Amino acid sequence: MNHKVLVATRSFGSTSQKPWDVLNQAGFDIVRADMSFEMTEDRLIDLLQDISGAIVGVVPLTKRVIENAPRLKVVSMHGVGVDHINLKAAAQHGIVVANCPGTNDQAVADLAIGLMIATARNLPTANQALRDGKWGRYNGNELWKKTLGLIGFGRIGYAAAKRALGFDMCILIYDPYIKPEQIDLPDTTMVTLNELISKSDFISLHASLTDETQGMIGAEQFEAMNPNVYLINTARGGLVDEEALVYALKHHQIAGAGLDVFVEEPPLGSELLKLENIVVTPHIGAHTNEAIERMGILAAQNIVGFLENGQVIHPVQ
Ligand code: NAD
Repeated sequence: MNHKVLVATRSFGSTSQKPWDVLNQAGFDIVRADMSFEMTEDRLIDLLQDISGAIVGVVPLTKRVIENAPRLKVVSMHGVGVDHINLKAAAQHGIVVANCPGTNDQAVADLAIGLMIATARNLPTANQALRDGKWGRYNGNELWKKTLGLIGFGRIGYAAAKRALGFDMCILIYDPYIKPEQIDLPDTTMVTLNELISKSDFISLHASLTDETQGMIGAEQFEAMNPNVYLINTARGGLVDEEALVYALKHHQIAGAGLDVFVEEPPLGSELLKLENIVVTPHIGAHTNEAIERMGILAAQNIVGFLENGQVIHPVQ
């Protein structure tokens, strides 16, 4: 019997045929989930009933879903972050989880720098004002020679640092899992989290969301920041205590924030959306034509690799 593969992400193969070709060449029966409305646990359970492999975006792959997917053998995240997948339950049920690191780092790093410029130069406000017929003056801040604090120095943090060096930025890095000798870039210094927080002009978050990093930027950290700081988050909303962020923005403890990710997505009704000193995007970090193609090909190869040869290309450790 042919393996059935579920595709439960809107963007898979949306910019190129190549990811679909990888699945089609393997001869799988492909089931595309309708992603135009909410993917609840119950919907996912129904869809997974006779599925061997699944390519997913940020859908609730909870313990309950995993326990009720009797034929599921392999899941590939169409991206990097797997904080929404219950890895323990997957391991207990012998389900292999894979992801696609290195496919979207350039796209996310571009957006992080874009959000720095957009916040520091008030681009959305200036854009909207001109459309409304106002020819105003909007003074902002330069990136040139400023200090950029990178929290998390994996693939995306590294790509952001390379771009920031083009602005002659001085780079501070906090990542307890990276050793200084692993860093091959000039003008970078590894520091403690406290030092990074107090010395940076821009702080950009690039750590994975784990029990350790959950809420790592909260009231205490905002109080210690320089009031001219711009906080950029293209990693995961959960890294930041959003209530503390709202307070910090309202009380000008920081100058502004550029956010691509939120604790609840979409962040409907969030206080954050009412504030002027933030720039927001709807979790589009990885959404370039190029990255979507690369993620799709690797996600498909993960599934084919496992169902045909018992091995994914990139397992989540
Ligand atoms: P990566 O695994 O290469 O890097 C993550 C880094 O976080 C690692 O170097 C790790 O050592 C570090 N880290 C872990 N615990 C830490 C801690 N306590 N303090 C500081 N650093 C810590 O992953 P990546 O591909 O660079 O992705 C980084 C983040 O970006 C992830 O959160 C991922 O989910 C997110 N992401 C977002 C988008 C988007 O669309 N906005 C797209 C891709 C990835």
